[in-house]
Amino acid sequence: MAADAPESTRTLGLLSVVAPVFNEDELIEVFHARVCAALEGIPFELVLVDDGSTDRTAELLAGLAAADERVRVIELSRNFGHQTAITAGLDHAAGDAIVMIDADLQDPPEVIPQMLDHWRRGTDVVYAVRHKRDGETHFKLATAKLFYRLFDALANVPLEHDSGDFRLLDRAPLDALLAMRERNRFLRGMTVWIGYTQTAVPYERDARYAGETKYTLSRMLRFSFDAISSFSHRPLQLATLFGFLVSLVAFIAIPVVIALRISGSYLPGFGSLTIAILLLGGIQLMAIGLIGEYVGRIYDEVKGRPLYVVRTRRNMPPTTSGGVAEPPAEATQPPAGFGPRAGRTGSGS
Ligand code: UDP
Ligand code: MG
Repeated sequence: MAADAPESTRTLGLLSVVAPVFNEDELIEVFHARVCAALEGIPFELVLVDDGSTDRTAELLAGLAAADERVRVIELSRNFGHQTAITAGLDHAAGDAIVMIDADLQDPPEVIPQMLDHWRRGTDVVYAVRHKRDGETHFKLATAKLFYRLFDALANVPLEHDSGDFRLLDRAPLDALLAMRERNRFLRGMTVWIGYTQTAVPYERDARYAGETKYTLSRMLRFSFDAISSFSHRPLQLATLFGFLVSLVAFIAIPVVIALRISGSYLPGFGSLTIAILLLGGIQLMAIGLIGEYVGRIYDEVKGRPLYVVRTRRNMPPTTSGGVAEPPAEATQPPAGFGPRAGRTGSGS
């Protein structure tokens, strides 16, 4: 801790607050008001990514952008999912420090100044850890706990339990993060993977301000396997291990059968044979399915499609083409320049 002290000199030119928004017309204006109130006196931009909303969200965002020039809106051409929407926002953020936050007010914007204090004192990544979660179902809490256990057991990334995507990044770690253009994005794992100095800030996670969670059970399951598969090959190794174990049982069975035959007590067992065949068939299919999951993800990567397509941009600074969509490939070209901010004016480069 004391070793960090001499670095306490960072000054903020611009803070980017990035929030993904999907069908949140009931709360987006309240979110904007809360962020503005919480960040009074701090130079900031609010980057709102409309992830293909089908309600009045787009209209309300346009209104916000017209009324407040600090509000930047990126409208995606369809729903690309939470993690990709955040990525689109990060690509367009120009700040020296960047906060990712959910728009549903579960992450209180009032915590941001505390995170900024840590950043000023030299911490590169400040993540918020929820020490209390209001308004979540028992089912969600239980499955979240199970997921973190499983992730710990399988992946080699020390993930802080109960940290969501609510976190602040300095420009340097953000650029490192944005250089990772993989499609199955588990941002909270990726921000740990990049390293740098990391600190936790505790906060109380509120209930959703309005509306409902956009994560259905099937989305949560897919998200969990995306997370694990993008950080671990262990499921594949477990399949191999299981294969060895089953083969071992078979090898042990051979002398047993011979012994029984010699001693005359051998009974031709149709039942046991059927069970063994079904069991092995099932295990083999599961292992193939597991490999298929990884192969499918390789296929997704190899296609090299852009991560997202932008329909409209509002209030973007002149470095990006304001208003009309750039060719989609531009939006997400890999490393050199990290997408549309290639010539951005932000500091740090
Ligand atoms: N979200 C999004 N695209 C999606 C799903 C969610 O941009 O496909 C946004 C949503 O509007 C919210 C944030 O991501 O601002 C978190 O979503 P949600 O609250 O539904 O997830 P939960 O907090 O229940 O995990
Ligand atoms: Mg939420």
